[in-house]
Amino acid sequence: MRIADVVPETGGLWLKSEYAPLSSEWPALSFTRKAVATQIARDFQYGRDVVVLVGTGNDDTPDPSHRGRLLSVVEPLPDPVVPTPDLVPERSWAEAQNKARGRWKLSLPISRLWKPTAEPLPRAKAVAPHTYPLLGQPYRRGFLVPVDAADRAALLNIEIEAVALMLSPRAERLVRQSRLGCMPPALRKEATRMADWLLARASIAPGTGSVGRDAAQRMSDLASLASVVAEAWYVQRGVCVQCGRPMLLTGGEDKHRALPVVGDMSPGWHARGDLRIVHKACLARV
Ligand SMILES: [Zn+2]
Repeated sequence: MRIADVVPETGGLWLKSEYAPLSSEWPALSFTRKAVATQIARDFQYGRDVVVLVGTGNDDTPDPSHRGRLLSVVEPLPDPVVPTPDLVPERSWAEAQNKARGRWKLSLPISRLWKPTAEPLPRAKAVAPHTYPLLGQPYRRGFLVPVDAADRAALLNIEIEAVALMLSPRAERLVRQSRLGCMPPALRKEATRMADWLLARASIAPGTGSVGRDAAQRMSDLASLASVVAEAWYVQRGVCVQCGRPMLLTGGEDKHRALPVVGDMSPGWHARGDLRIVHKACLARV
């Protein structure tokens, strides 16, 4: 897969300097100054844009093989900003604070993460010669820099693979909340409707286990599932996986509305996030 596969044609590409690749050890886009978060909330459009992280050229980036290289491709959840210890493992946080107390206190949760597959990692100066030098300008330090049109094609062509994140329950909950919060209201409402439909269906399906035990559990399942549904909508870019045509969020004929499909509804299905969204009219053909 290439970066082009995870960004829509009109999607924004941004470069940002970083000190190490993001991973389960540091599953957050972190910064020291609130102004960086303010810029991201203002300029980064969730569901459309991605940020390519580039290792700084100095020894702030501890691993020399990361300096000046493309490290990660990330889709942050731009709002709200959270305290970094809510997202990163305790050990990673303690180590970072030992090295540089007071830095990286603020973070955005990550919705999706990829890494370049090339070894050694691609050199930013070669792939993005027009944009990379801008990262070093003092007034841009730490901020997102829009990728110059002349660099776009080469960046989109970079081979990447998805990175699965192991998160603490608290971080998992924050990601879920942020993801729903970042959705347009119409999608949030529709995702909740779809999740409700799926839960009702699961509670009468045989062998589906613990879903719907009581009202509180159901509300928590509903919120979690709505977030998974909304994410699937974004990944599919609102297109039905069965017929390839756009699905409606509001209005229109009932058969053009969207419904979620889960391949395997054995116990634990609602936590696996293995679902696709199709038109109501296409459901019978899945
Ligand atoms: Zn369809």
